[in-house]
Amino acid sequence: MRNNKLVICHYAEIGLKGKNRKFFEEKLVDNIKQALPEGSFKHVKRISGRILVYLSDGAKESEVGDALKTIFGLAYFAFAQQAEQSIESISQKAVEILKDEDFETFRIDAKRSNKEFALSSQEINEQIGGAVIDGVNKKVKLENPDVTLFIQIVEKFAFLFIKKIRGLGGLPVGVSSRAVSLLSGGIDSPVASFLAMKRGVEVVFCHFHAVPYVDKKSVDKVKQLAEVLTKYQGKSKLYLIPFGDIQKEILLKTTPDLRVVLYRRIMFKIAEEIANKEKAKALVTGESIGQVASQTIENIAAISEATSLPILRPLITYDKEEIIEKAKEIDTYELSILPHQDCCARFLPKHPATKANLNEVQEQEQKINLKELIEQAIKNSTVEIVDKSK
Ligand code: ATP
Ligand code: MG
Repeated sequence: MRNNKLVICHYAEIGLKGKNRKFFEEKLVDNIKQALPEGSFKHVKRISGRILVYLSDGAKESEVGDALKTIFGLAYFAFAQQAEQSIESISQKAVEILKDEDFETFRIDAKRSNKEFALSSQEINEQIGGAVIDGVNKKVKLENPDVTLFIQIVEKFAFLFIKKIRGLGGLPVGVSSRAVSLLSGGIDSPVASFLAMKRGVEVVFCHFHAVPYVDKKSVDKVKQLAEVLTKYQGKSKLYLIPFGDIQKEILLKTTPDLRVVLYRRIMFKIAEEIANKEKAKALVTGESIGQVASQTIENIAAISEATSLPILRPLITYDKEEIIEKAKEIDTYELSILPHQDCCARFLPKHPATKANLNEVQEQEQKINLKELIEQAIKNSTVEIVDKSK
């Protein structure tokens, strides 16, 4: 009875024209196929403004739904049934669907995008409404009914469904190029990575650690965070970069108040090298104005100067509370609050500069053997591949 089951995936079309639109849709289809459980679908088809996923007989709706909830670019999706494009066939399907539901009042919400179909949306509502009253003996209620049956007449298809499931919105990962995201074990940078992905950016993760000066906890934690975040882009690379020797050098040779600014500048320089290797066009950080001493506008300016790449800071105006709320929503919060030794929390000065002067920063930076330290760090870095299907 429940054959021809499919999921209708809707995306927001605003601003999508010509070539862009095809690229967007193809990326979205690829991402959907990659995210769905193996064997759960027969085929995926693009039609106007929608992507249709025809499900296999054994597909589990809950698993398919969970997978689609990780796809950026979907406005909403719905498990639907398909009928022939005739009022008889639609009526029959409507009764068949509603027969299985527990409700007293209903309404039909038809949308006809194929204007060649003989009846208007309102006429479909009336005729199918009548058929449902006859078929299952329930009442129509236009305001707040127990059930709404949506009917979409589009191209040569007729789809029926009763529940719209909200998607993540945003743009399909991969349509907005690639960026290197600086992922600490903290609360902010995982959320920043998620938000960059939301706008279609494919993210390469990069974590700086102080192993063997500290234990491996921060590294394990970041791997787990990368796994959670990889849900949203299918596959990721995580660069693990030793930073302990660089810190040692900074500690020995530079003034304490500029330490954190110097750490961040060097992180940006290393991340830029990785970006070049990965053909990434920007960096992403979890910085937010004024959150800590290193994040005053003056310090952000002194840090940004270290790289010529654009730096995406999705959280720049977020309050900590807002960031925590988002972290909980995307399942990174519980991991982020596990204790770990942040490499930069070692040897923190009592009075970090809140208004670093760029000339002074550059002067201090010249005291360390920057080129060689960066080369060493990159040479000794390792790369993990995180694959959500594994
Ligand atoms: P987070 O919660 O992301 O650690 P934070 O509020 O603790 O951020 P900082 O520690 O000043 O802020 O770090 C600012 C940003 O610099 C981080 O959001 C992250 O993008 C990057 N960063 C800091 N430490 C590291 C690290 N060890 N490895 C990679 N990136 C880092
Ligand atoms: Mg931090």
